[in-house]
Amino acid sequence: MANKTTFLRFKRSIWQVFAHVFVVSLFLASSVSAAPEVSSLRIGASKERTRLVLDMTQNVSFKIFSLDNPRRVVIDFPTVVWPSDDNSAKAQGLINKIRFGHFTDTQSRLVIDLSRPAVVAKSFTLAPASGLPHRFVIDLTETSASKFSQQVQDDRAKKQSVAAPAPQPEPELKSPSKRRESGEKPVIVIDAGHGGVDPGALGRHAREKNVTLAFAREYARQLRNTGRYEVYLTRNRDIYIPLRQRVTIARKHDADLFISIHADAIERKSVRGMSIYTLSETASDHEAAALARKENRSDIIAGIDFDDQPREVANILIDLAQRETKNLSVEFAKIVVNEARGATRLLDRTHRFAGFRVLKAPDVPSVLIELGFLTNSSDEKQLSSSAWRKKLAERLVKSVNAYFSPNRVARLAR
Ligand SMILES: [Zn+2]
Repeated sequence: MANKTTFLRFKRSIWQVFAHVFVVSLFLASSVSAAPEVSSLRIGASKERTRLVLDMTQNVSFKIFSLDNPRRVVIDFPTVVWPSDDNSAKAQGLINKIRFGHFTDTQSRLVIDLSRPAVVAKSFTLAPASGLPHRFVIDLTETSASKFSQQVQDDRAKKQSVAAPAPQPEPELKSPSKRRESGEKPVIVIDAGHGGVDPGALGRHAREKNVTLAFAREYARQLRNTGRYEVYLTRNRDIYIPLRQRVTIARKHDADLFISIHADAIERKSVRGMSIYTLSETASDHEAAALARKENRSDIIAGIDFDDQPREVANILIDLAQRETKNLSVEFAKIVVNEARGATRLLDRTHRFAGFRVLKAPDVPSVLIELGFLTNSSDEKQLSSSAWRKKLAERLVKSVNAYFSPNRVARLAR
C-alpha cells in the first residue's frame, strides 16, 4: 500500500515536471518570436561626434534617411517595443531631441531632430559582449548646410528608385443628403489625435496621444450605444497615422461627420478649458493660427517626407463642396459649445477658426475639439479621469443627436 502511494506521488511529480517543462518551453518560444525590445537609449557627445546607442534584446535590421525643414535623421526598424519613458536619453551634442514609437503595423520609427546640420558617419549593430546586450549604434558628425541638403536629395532619389509611391486617386464627391433620404444610419468618424511616434502635447504625467485615444474610445462607445449611428475610429491603438490619411479614412467611410479629438499645451499654466475649431484659411486669431501650426506639425514630428505625397487636389467642384461642408461644420460646432457648457470649463471664444490639415475633407463636415490643456493641473486631472470623460462624451452624443435631428435636417433641406 505504502509503495503504491509512493508510486502515485512519483507519477504526479513526473507529470508536474513535464507540465513545467512544457510551460517553460512555451514561454521560450513566445519570447523568441516576440518583437525585439529596446531596453534603453543613451546619447554621448564629444567634439568630433555624437553617438546614440539603443540597447536591445535582439539584433534588428534598419533603414536610415535624412529630411530637411527642420533637419532630421529618421531610422526605421521592424516593429520593436519601446521603453515607456520618452526622456530616457538626454539630448546633447548634435541631437536636439529624439522621438520614437510605432509608425505602421510592421514598422517602428526613431526620429532625431538635429541641432546643427549633421551626417550619419557610421551606423551598425553589435552582438552581446562584456555583459552588454545587442546594440544599435549611430554616429553623427557635423557637416555644412549644403552638404546636408545634398544628403536629403540623395536619400530621396534612392527611396524613389526603390518604390515610387502610387498616386492615390481622389474618391468621387458624394451628395451629402443621399444617405439621409434613403434612411441609412449616419456615419461618424472619431479621430484620436497623434499616436505612435508622435506623442502630441505633454502634461506633467499625461500625454496627448493617450488622452485622445481614451476619450475617442469612450465617445465611440456611447455613440454606438444609441443604436443610431455607424461609428468608426481612425485609430484604436498607439499608432501613428499621417494627417492626410485621417482625412482619407473619413472619406472612405463616406462619413457624415468627422470629429478630431486633441488636447493642448501652453506656456501660461493658468490657461484652461475646452475649445472647438472649424476650418478656415484665415485664422480667427493669433492663438488659433499658432495652434493649427502646432497640430499640423504632426507629420513632421513623425518624419514624413512631404515630397512623397501626391499633390493636393484643387478644383472648383471641391471648392463648392467645401463651402457647404464648412457651413455644416460651423453649425455642429455651435451645437457642441451649447451642449458642453456646464459639463466642462470652456475657453473664452470657444468656437474658433484655423487651417488644420486634418479638417480638409471637402465633403465631410469636420471639427477639431481641444478637450483642455495638459499644462494646467486641473485640466490634466480631468483629462485623465474616466468619470469626466463619460460626462463630456454624454454631452457630445447629445450634440450629435441634435445635429442629426429630423427637424434640423428638414430645415436645411428647405
Ligand atoms: Zn493635438
